[in-house]
Amino acid sequence: MIELARGIYYLAGGVNCGILETGDGGCLIVDTGNSDDSGKKLLKACRAKNLEPRAIINTHSHADHYGGNAFLLKHLEIPVYAPIFEESILRYPILEPIYLWSGARAHKELQNRFLLAGASPAKVLNEAGKRKIAGLEIELLEVSGHAHIQFAVKVNDVLFAADAVFGQAILEKHPLSFMVDIQLAREAIETVRASGARIVLPGHGEPTTEIDALCDANVAALERSNQAVLSACFDVGTTPEILARVCAMLEVQMTDLTRYVLNQTAVLAHLTDLEERGLVRHSIVRNVLVWQAVHDL
Ligand SMILES: [Zn+2]
Repeated sequence: MIELARGIYYLAGGVNCGILETGDGGCLIVDTGNSDDSGKKLLKACRAKNLEPRAIINTHSHADHYGGNAFLLKHLEIPVYAPIFEESILRYPILEPIYLWSGARAHKELQNRFLLAGASPAKVLNEAGKRKIAGLEIELLEVSGHAHIQFAVKVNDVLFAADAVFGQAILEKHPLSFMVDIQLAREAIETVRASGARIVLPGHGEPTTEIDALCDANVAALERSNQAVLSACFDVGTTPEILARVCAMLEVQMTDLTRYVLNQTAVLAHLTDLEERGLVRHSIVRNVLVWQAVHDL
Protein backbone atom coordinates (compact mmCIF):
# COMPACT_ATOMS: atom_id res chain seq x y z
CA MET A 1 0.00 0.00 0.00
CA ILE A 2 1.54 3.27 -1.15
CA GLU A 3 0.74 6.64 0.45
CA LEU A 4 -0.01 9.42 -2.07
CA ALA A 5 -0.91 12.05 0.51
CA ARG A 6 -2.00 12.03 4.15
CA GLY A 7 -4.63 9.33 4.56
CA ILE A 8 -4.78 8.64 0.80
CA TYR A 9 -3.29 5.36 -0.37
CA TYR A 10 -3.39 3.00 -3.28
CA LEU A 11 -2.66 -0.64 -3.83
CA ALA A 12 -0.68 -1.04 -7.04
CA GLY A 13 -1.59 -3.85 -9.38
CA GLY A 14 -2.93 -4.55 -12.87
CA VAL A 15 -5.50 -1.97 -11.78
CA ASN A 16 -4.67 0.57 -9.09
CA CYS A 17 -7.14 0.53 -6.20
CA GLY A 18 -7.60 3.56 -3.97
CA ILE A 19 -7.89 3.39 -0.19
CA LEU A 20 -9.09 6.67 1.33
CA GLU A 21 -9.21 7.14 5.10
CA THR A 22 -12.58 8.37 6.30
CA GLY A 23 -11.15 9.62 9.60
CA ASP A 24 -13.07 7.30 11.93
CA GLY A 25 -11.00 4.16 11.46
CA GLY A 26 -12.71 3.43 8.19
CA CYS A 27 -11.83 3.75 4.54
CA LEU A 28 -13.46 4.20 1.18
CA ILE A 29 -12.23 1.89 -1.59
CA VAL A 30 -11.97 3.10 -5.20
CA ASP A 31 -12.07 0.11 -7.61
CA THR A 32 -11.33 -3.44 -6.51
CA GLY A 33 -9.21 -5.14 -9.19
CA ASN A 34 -10.11 -8.07 -11.40
CA SER A 35 -10.71 -11.06 -9.11
CA ASP A 36 -11.45 -12.51 -5.68
CA ASP A 37 -7.71 -12.50 -5.21
CA SER A 38 -7.47 -8.74 -5.70
CA GLY A 39 -10.41 -8.26 -3.31
CA LYS A 40 -8.60 -10.41 -0.75
CA LYS A 41 -5.35 -8.40 -1.11
CA LEU A 42 -7.28 -5.16 -0.75
CA LEU A 43 -9.01 -6.27 2.47
CA LYS A 44 -5.70 -7.49 3.88
CA ALA A 45 -4.01 -4.17 3.04
CA CYS A 46 -6.82 -2.18 4.71
CA ARG A 47 -6.75 -4.31 7.84
CA ALA A 48 -2.95 -4.08 8.05
CA LYS A 49 -3.48 -0.30 8.43
CA ASN A 50 -6.36 -0.87 10.89
CA LEU A 51 -8.80 0.54 8.38
CA GLU A 52 -12.23 -1.00 8.04
CA PRO A 53 -13.74 -0.64 4.54
CA ARG A 54 -16.99 1.37 4.71
CA ALA A 55 -17.91 1.60 1.01
CA ILE A 56 -16.70 0.87 -2.51
CA ILE A 57 -16.82 3.22 -5.49
CA ASN A 58 -16.41 1.65 -8.92
CA THR A 59 -15.24 4.25 -11.42
CA HIS A 60 -16.76 2.28 -14.33
CA SER A 61 -18.04 -1.22 -15.00
CA HIS A 62 -15.12 -3.00 -16.63
CA ALA A 63 -14.49 -6.31 -14.91
CA ASP A 64 -10.85 -5.46 -14.14
CA HIS A 65 -12.10 -2.57 -11.97
CA TYR A 66 -14.94 -4.27 -10.08
CA GLY A 67 -13.84 -7.94 -10.03
CA GLY A 68 -12.86 -7.75 -6.35
CA ASN A 69 -16.32 -6.54 -5.27
CA ALA A 70 -17.81 -10.02 -4.84
CA PHE A 71 -15.10 -11.15 -2.40
CA LEU A 72 -15.37 -7.95 -0.35
CA LEU A 73 -19.17 -8.17 -0.21
CA LYS A 74 -18.95 -11.78 0.94
CA HIS A 75 -17.01 -10.59 3.99
CA LEU A 76 -18.38 -7.09 4.59
CA GLU A 77 -21.77 -5.47 4.64
CA ILE A 78 -20.92 -2.28 2.79
CA PRO A 79 -22.51 -0.32 -0.04
CA VAL A 80 -21.14 -0.18 -3.57
CA TYR A 81 -21.49 3.00 -5.64
CA ALA A 82 -21.26 3.11 -9.42
CA PRO A 83 -22.04 5.62 -12.17
CA ILE A 84 -25.52 5.63 -13.70
CA PHE A 85 -25.76 3.20 -16.68
CA GLU A 86 -22.56 1.40 -15.60
CA GLU A 87 -24.51 0.27 -12.55
CA SER A 88 -26.66 -1.92 -14.81
CA ILE A 89 -23.56 -3.90 -15.81
CA LEU A 90 -22.71 -4.48 -12.14
CA ARG A 91 -26.18 -5.98 -11.76
CA TYR A 92 -25.92 -8.02 -14.97
CA PRO A 93 -22.17 -8.45 -15.60
CA ILE A 94 -22.83 -10.64 -18.67
CA LEU A 95 -23.80 -7.38 -20.46
CA GLU A 96 -20.11 -6.55 -21.01
CA PRO A 97 -19.23 -9.72 -22.99
CA ILE A 98 -22.62 -9.47 -24.71
CA TYR A 99 -22.07 -5.92 -26.02
CA LEU A 100 -18.52 -6.78 -27.09
CA TRP A 101 -20.00 -9.68 -29.09
CA SER A 102 -22.35 -7.33 -30.99
CA GLY A 103 -25.24 -8.10 -28.67
CA ALA A 104 -25.34 -11.84 -29.35
CA ARG A 105 -25.14 -14.39 -26.53
CA ALA A 106 -21.56 -13.96 -25.35
CA HIS A 107 -19.01 -16.36 -26.80
CA LYS A 108 -17.63 -18.49 -23.97
CA GLU A 109 -14.07 -17.33 -24.70
CA LEU A 110 -15.23 -13.82 -23.76
CA GLN A 111 -16.52 -14.97 -20.39
CA ASN A 112 -13.17 -14.54 -18.66
CA ARG A 113 -12.05 -12.49 -15.68
CA PHE A 114 -11.02 -9.50 -17.80
CA LEU A 115 -14.55 -9.12 -19.16
CA LEU A 116 -16.80 -10.81 -16.60
CA ALA A 117 -16.96 -10.77 -12.80
CA GLY A 118 -19.55 -11.54 -10.13
CA ALA A 119 -22.61 -9.30 -9.78
CA SER A 120 -22.65 -6.62 -7.10
CA PRO A 121 -25.73 -4.39 -7.03
CA ALA A 122 -24.73 -0.77 -6.53
CA LYS A 123 -26.19 2.54 -5.48
CA VAL A 124 -26.37 4.85 -8.48
CA LEU A 125 -24.13 7.91 -8.77
CA ASN A 126 -26.34 10.05 -11.00
CA GLU A 127 -24.00 12.90 -11.70
CA ALA A 128 -20.59 14.41 -11.12
CA GLY A 129 -19.96 16.88 -8.31
CA LYS A 130 -19.10 17.01 -4.64
CA ARG A 131 -20.61 14.51 -2.27
CA LYS A 132 -20.00 12.70 0.99
CA ILE A 133 -19.56 8.95 0.90
CA ALA A 134 -18.88 7.02 4.11
CA GLY A 135 -18.43 10.39 5.78
CA LEU A 136 -15.67 11.45 3.41
CA GLU A 137 -15.94 14.55 1.22
CA ILE A 138 -15.02 13.66 -2.36
CA GLU A 139 -15.56 15.16 -5.80
CA LEU A 140 -16.64 13.09 -8.80
CA LEU A 141 -15.49 14.30 -12.22
CA GLU A 142 -17.15 12.92 -15.32
CA VAL A 143 -14.49 11.39 -17.55
CA SER A 144 -16.49 9.21 -19.95
CA GLY A 145 -15.18 7.97 -23.30
CA HIS A 146 -13.20 4.90 -22.26
CA ALA A 147 -16.47 3.65 -20.77
CA HIS A 148 -19.98 4.94 -21.49
CA ILE A 149 -20.05 6.68 -18.11
CA GLN A 150 -16.93 6.96 -16.01
CA PHE A 151 -16.19 9.02 -12.91
CA ALA A 152 -12.78 10.07 -11.64
CA VAL A 153 -12.58 10.53 -7.86
CA LYS A 154 -10.88 13.59 -6.39
CA VAL A 155 -10.03 13.74 -2.72
CA ASN A 156 -8.14 16.82 -1.55
CA ASP A 157 -5.50 17.34 -4.24
CA VAL A 158 -5.27 13.72 -5.40
CA LEU A 159 -7.18 12.54 -8.45
CA PHE A 160 -7.97 8.87 -9.02
CA ALA A 161 -8.39 9.33 -12.77
CA ALA A 162 -9.75 5.83 -13.57
CA ASP A 163 -9.09 5.04 -17.27
CA ALA A 164 -9.48 8.64 -18.48
CA VAL A 165 -5.69 8.63 -18.81
CA PHE A 166 -3.17 5.80 -18.90
CA GLY A 167 0.38 5.87 -17.55
CA GLN A 168 3.07 6.49 -20.18
CA ALA A 169 4.44 2.93 -20.05
CA ILE A 170 0.91 1.56 -20.58
CA LEU A 171 0.42 3.81 -23.64
CA GLU A 172 3.63 2.42 -25.12
CA LYS A 173 2.65 -1.18 -24.37
CA HIS A 174 -0.94 -0.76 -25.66
CA PRO A 175 -0.91 1.81 -28.48
CA LEU A 176 -4.60 1.18 -29.29
CA SER A 177 -6.51 1.97 -26.07
CA PHE A 178 -10.03 0.70 -25.49
CA MET A 179 -12.53 3.48 -26.18
CA VAL A 180 -16.26 3.70 -26.78
CA ASP A 181 -16.56 7.45 -27.52
CA ILE A 182 -13.58 9.36 -28.90
CA GLN A 183 -14.94 12.90 -28.48
CA LEU A 184 -15.82 12.22 -24.83
CA ALA A 185 -12.37 10.64 -24.35
CA ARG A 186 -10.74 13.86 -25.65
CA GLU A 187 -12.84 15.90 -23.21
CA ALA A 188 -12.02 13.51 -20.35
CA ILE A 189 -8.27 14.09 -20.78
CA GLU A 190 -8.87 17.85 -20.59
CA THR A 191 -11.02 17.36 -17.48
CA VAL A 192 -8.05 15.60 -15.84
CA ARG A 193 -5.75 18.42 -16.96
CA ALA A 194 -8.06 21.10 -15.53
CA SER A 195 -8.86 19.18 -12.33
CA GLY A 196 -6.49 21.22 -10.18
CA ALA A 197 -5.08 17.99 -8.72
CA ARG A 198 -1.46 17.90 -7.59
CA ILE A 199 -1.16 14.13 -8.04
CA VAL A 200 -2.95 12.04 -10.65
CA LEU A 201 -3.14 8.29 -10.39
CA PRO A 202 -4.31 6.58 -13.60
CA GLY A 203 -6.25 3.34 -13.27
CA HIS A 204 -3.30 1.64 -14.96
CA GLY A 205 0.21 3.03 -14.46
CA GLU A 206 2.17 5.16 -12.02
CA PRO A 207 1.06 8.22 -10.06
CA THR A 208 2.47 11.49 -11.31
CA THR A 209 2.67 15.21 -10.51
CA GLU A 210 3.58 15.93 -14.17
CA ILE A 211 -0.05 16.23 -15.12
CA ASP A 212 0.35 18.23 -18.33
CA ALA A 213 2.92 15.74 -19.62
CA LEU A 214 0.61 12.83 -18.78
CA CYS A 215 -2.34 14.50 -20.52
CA ASP A 216 -0.22 15.46 -23.55
CA ALA A 217 0.94 11.83 -23.92
CA ASN A 218 -2.66 10.62 -23.75
CA VAL A 219 -3.86 13.18 -26.32
CA ALA A 220 -0.99 12.14 -28.62
CA ALA A 221 -1.82 8.43 -28.29
CA LEU A 222 -5.54 9.02 -28.89
CA GLU A 223 -4.94 11.18 -31.97
CA ARG A 224 -2.32 8.75 -33.31
CA SER A 225 -4.93 5.96 -33.17
CA ASN A 226 -7.52 8.27 -34.74
CA GLN A 227 -5.10 9.14 -37.58
CA ALA A 228 -4.23 5.46 -38.07
CA VAL A 229 -7.94 4.62 -38.50
CA LEU A 230 -8.35 7.50 -40.96
CA SER A 231 -5.28 6.36 -42.96
CA ALA A 232 -6.63 2.81 -42.97
CA CYS A 233 -9.73 4.17 -44.76
CA PHE A 234 -7.78 5.73 -47.66
CA ASP A 235 -8.51 2.45 -49.47
CA VAL A 236 -12.06 1.17 -49.11
CA GLY A 237 -12.25 -1.59 -46.47
CA THR A 238 -14.54 -3.67 -44.31
CA THR A 239 -14.41 -3.24 -40.53
CA PRO A 240 -12.13 -6.32 -40.11
CA GLU A 241 -9.86 -4.99 -42.87
CA ILE A 242 -9.65 -1.54 -41.27
CA LEU A 243 -8.93 -3.19 -37.91
CA ALA A 244 -6.12 -5.32 -39.42
CA ARG A 245 -4.59 -2.27 -41.18
CA VAL A 246 -4.69 -0.21 -37.96
CA CYS A 247 -3.07 -3.04 -35.99
CA ALA A 248 -0.33 -3.32 -38.63
CA MET A 249 0.32 0.44 -38.42
CA LEU A 250 0.43 0.52 -34.63
CA GLU A 251 2.26 -2.83 -34.38
CA VAL A 252 -0.50 -4.45 -32.36
CA GLN A 253 -0.70 -8.25 -32.32
CA MET A 254 -4.07 -9.84 -31.60
CA THR A 255 -3.94 -13.50 -30.67
CA ASP A 256 -7.18 -14.06 -28.76
CA LEU A 257 -10.84 -13.17 -29.05
CA THR A 258 -10.77 -10.84 -26.02
CA ARG A 259 -8.10 -8.59 -27.56
CA TYR A 260 -9.84 -8.80 -30.94
CA VAL A 261 -13.24 -7.59 -29.74
CA LEU A 262 -11.73 -4.87 -27.54
CA ASN A 263 -9.68 -3.49 -30.45
CA GLN A 264 -12.62 -3.87 -32.82
CA THR A 265 -14.77 -1.77 -30.47
CA ALA A 266 -12.03 0.89 -30.23
CA VAL A 267 -11.76 1.02 -34.05
CA LEU A 268 -15.56 1.32 -34.37
CA ALA A 269 -15.47 4.21 -31.87
CA HIS A 270 -12.83 5.94 -34.05
CA LEU A 271 -14.79 5.23 -37.27
CA THR A 272 -17.93 6.72 -35.71
CA ASP A 273 -15.95 9.79 -34.64
CA LEU A 274 -14.35 10.18 -38.09
CA GLU A 275 -17.72 9.82 -39.84
CA GLU A 276 -19.32 12.38 -37.50
CA ARG A 277 -16.48 14.78 -38.36
CA GLY A 278 -17.09 14.25 -42.09
CA LEU A 279 -13.76 12.51 -42.71
CA VAL A 280 -15.01 8.96 -43.36
CA ARG A 281 -18.18 7.51 -44.87
CA HIS A 282 -19.74 4.09 -44.54
CA SER A 283 -21.77 2.28 -47.18
CA ILE A 284 -23.19 -1.17 -47.66
CA VAL A 285 -22.17 -2.65 -50.99
CA ARG A 286 -23.59 -6.06 -51.99
CA ASN A 287 -24.33 -6.82 -48.34
CA VAL A 288 -20.83 -5.79 -47.19
CA LEU A 289 -20.33 -2.86 -44.79
CA VAL A 290 -17.36 -0.82 -45.99
CA TRP A 291 -15.66 2.39 -44.89
CA GLN A 292 -13.79 4.94 -46.98
CA ALA A 293 -12.13 8.26 -46.29
CA VAL A 294 -13.88 11.26 -47.82
CA HIS A 295 -11.32 12.52 -50.32
CA ASP A 296 -12.81 15.83 -51.34
CA LEU A 297 -11.50 17.67 -48.31
ZN1 LIG B 1 -11.63 0.21 -18.17
